[in-house]
Amino acid sequence: MAVTKKIFLIIILLGSGLSACGSGEAKLATAVPIVATPFPTATLPTATLPTATLVKNRPTAVTTILLTPNVEISLDDDLEIVEITATKPPTRPPLIYRLPIEAGQQGVDWFIGSYVDAEKADGDAADFRGGFMTYDWHKGTDFFIRDLDHMETGVPVLAARSGTVVELHDGENDYDWEGKGRQNNFIKITHDDGSFAFYSHLKRDSLVVRVGDTVAAGDPLVLVGNSGLSSGHPHLHFEVHAANGRTIDIFGENLADFEPLYPDKPFIFAAGAAQREDPHLFGDLSRYTPTHTAAFSCAETPYFWYKIVGMAQGDRLRTLVIYPDGVVNELPSFVADQDYRFIYWVVYDAPLPPGTSIIRYFFNDDIANVGEMALWTTCE
Ligand SMILES: [Zn+2]
Repeated sequence: MAVTKKIFLIIILLGSGLSACGSGEAKLATAVPIVATPFPTATLPTATLPTATLVKNRPTAVTTILLTPNVEISLDDDLEIVEITATKPPTRPPLIYRLPIEAGQQGVDWFIGSYVDAEKADGDAADFRGGFMTYDWHKGTDFFIRDLDHMETGVPVLAARSGTVVELHDGENDYDWEGKGRQNNFIKITHDDGSFAFYSHLKRDSLVVRVGDTVAAGDPLVLVGNSGLSSGHPHLHFEVHAANGRTIDIFGENLADFEPLYPDKPFIFAAGAAQREDPHLFGDLSRYTPTHTAAFSCAETPYFWYKIVGMAQGDRLRTLVIYPDGVVNELPSFVADQDYRFIYWVVYDAPLPPGTSIIRYFFNDDIANVGEMALWTTCE
């Protein structure tokens, strides 16, 4: 096995502090605190019991009085309280926001790259789980699609909730991501309780609704785009506000009827092997996807590329190449020097020996979500 020379490089990093993603309006009041509604528990003090409901001369030894939908109080013959119990879990608020895109499989075709910043202090950022999948003052949820080619195929944006289209903007192009501060294409929809949502970075000339239209949840509105200050990676920025302007975090307030694939540990969104000549390998990996090549010649150098979501500082991506004779070659690993919501990376190796080589990915000591892939090498 004569594979000794390994060279690697990091090409694009998008850290927790770097992003650009505006909405149609960015001047809404955000100072109103979120107040959690308490729910009764079994430790409810007896002093709070409504004594008027304790009826004497009851026929049974133990009586149950429903105090609230969630609390059950058991009494004995002497009307002494035997037990106070919560009869069911705390009521969830209604799940009113459906997935606002139709983009395929989460984690494969799309992922949530940024959540609402739940930390209101300037300079601090934390998502609804206390994690780094947000950035300072981000008021919406970013649904990233694969790349610009995916955008061009047309990824529908759907109404997350029924309402009325009250404002929209179109005409901004999807390829001018250097144009700082540009307006983005957006739709604003109001809901029946006065709350409203922005759908932003929309694809130019793809609107299928007009101001004044009423829409039902799930109705197509437009296509995912890359207009405005979108950081270049096509995505939908979805942002909800209460009637008073307060930012609503649909996950933090348990209002979404879909589960986000939150990266409790990093996952590979896309990975593959490409040939050196692939124009996207060193051009713009964040916005394009190299062509995965499964077969190489003995003279070709395989370039392994990765798109990773949710790498925390210290996480290590490892790549093992298992050659046809069983010898294992570990490529240089990448250790995150900070938290990265998403990161793009390329490493390359010397030409592979003839036969089938297996590539395995690990994060730290755990095999990564995409498992492994096989590469074939033939020699003439
Ligand atoms: Zn955003």
